[in-house]
Amino acid sequence: MQFIINKMVLNNQTIAHIRKDFPILEEKIYNKPLIYFDNAATTQKPLQVLEKIEYAYKHLNSNIHRGVHYMSIKATEAHEEARDVVARFIKASKREEIIFTRGSTEAINLVAFSFGEAFCKEGDEIVISAMEHHSNIVPWQLLCERKNLKLRIVPINDKGELILDEYRKLLNERTKLVAVAHVSNVLGTINPVKDIISIAHEHDIPVLLDGAQAIPHIAVDIEDIDADFYVFSAHKIYGPTGIGVLYGKEKWLNLMPPYQGGGEMIDKVTFEKTTFNSLPFKFEAGTPDYIGSTALAEALKYVENIGLDAIVHYEHELTVYATEALSTIDGIKFYGTSDRKSAVISFNVGNIHPYDIGMLLDKMGIAVRTGHHCAQPLIDFYEIPGTVRASFAFYNTKEEIDVFIAALKKAIAMLS
Ligand code: PLP
Repeated sequence: MQFIINKMVLNNQTIAHIRKDFPILEEKIYNKPLIYFDNAATTQKPLQVLEKIEYAYKHLNSNIHRGVHYMSIKATEAHEEARDVVARFIKASKREEIIFTRGSTEAINLVAFSFGEAFCKEGDEIVISAMEHHSNIVPWQLLCERKNLKLRIVPINDKGELILDEYRKLLNERTKLVAVAHVSNVLGTINPVKDIISIAHEHDIPVLLDGAQAIPHIAVDIEDIDADFYVFSAHKIYGPTGIGVLYGKEKWLNLMPPYQGGGEMIDKVTFEKTTFNSLPFKFEAGTPDYIGSTALAEALKYVENIGLDAIVHYEHELTVYATEALSTIDGIKFYGTSDRKSAVISFNVGNIHPYDIGMLLDKMGIAVRTGHHCAQPLIDFYEIPGTVRASFAFYNTKEEIDVFIAALKKAIAMLS
């Protein structure tokens, strides 16, 4: 099947062409071609991004915002243009609402600290869900300990979907914020975020979406879904490590105190008092990662050029193909069987430990992730030691899935 949505046709030829942009896919692992199915942990980087990093260090490296000289102005322009690219990518109308952070984790910690300082008091409640990554659990626990708040958990059903009726019941006048994943990194479930947000907004409760797993797979229209905060990491969308984004509505960010002090976040400093810069700089303390932001912008342009609609359809086809092939394996059990799923498949086979499967697949050149996937409460819910997780990107192919299935069958035969 071919997917021509807006821009590019995704078929065998174009995927083969796209794969040439990713030099790491040529690597051999134990003399076998690398099959990289660990994209939910981090994605590979196209040459365009790698070259942008090199270009930025070679041609525009100079600390930003404070310089009057040519090179500093160039670097500042690149960093600020990157902010515009991010705003365009998630359809945010105000560039001031885009804050660069070190990643999703830092962005959530920023909100947990700063929103918590501004709006939370003893007895208040924060609502998260049973399928959260530790990065969207622990910052709220720290806030709860600091301020004596209560953490409330939205339960999930057997298919790995949030139970919205239970969610509704959790909201009350003490609820200060809802923080949930847009897409689960273990189950692949795409949560009904518009419903989650409109239900919270009926009670005037703001919502933070953890978009770490959504951003490479779903076209996000931040103003349409009406999220109050949205976070993601560049490395999960073909960009570099160490940089990510917090989108926050101006009305909240303006009322929140700075998270860290120093650098461009100040307006005027005296020993008696410091006043703070306006948005977005108030939340970007220290030298920003202007090389990272420039490379992130390049990654987003790369994705835009292929077109997220085409990516969504192609990855969906890969996921369905792999799920059907896996379903023929005796004793397989899937975790996350929602109809609305992203390109993530978690499973176990009989009583075989997921690590054993992962290690044998590795010896055959196939990279999958095994374990609790930084979602221990979810794994505890299923009363299992962990899962094997295969997660796809648009550079993966059905041929790779065929090799994976054959290797998996071999591993099962060895371990049974
Ligand atoms: N949230 C989810 C759902 C994730 O999958 C991850 C990473 O796997 C994170 C948050 C944390 O992202 P990072 O480590 O880039 O901050």
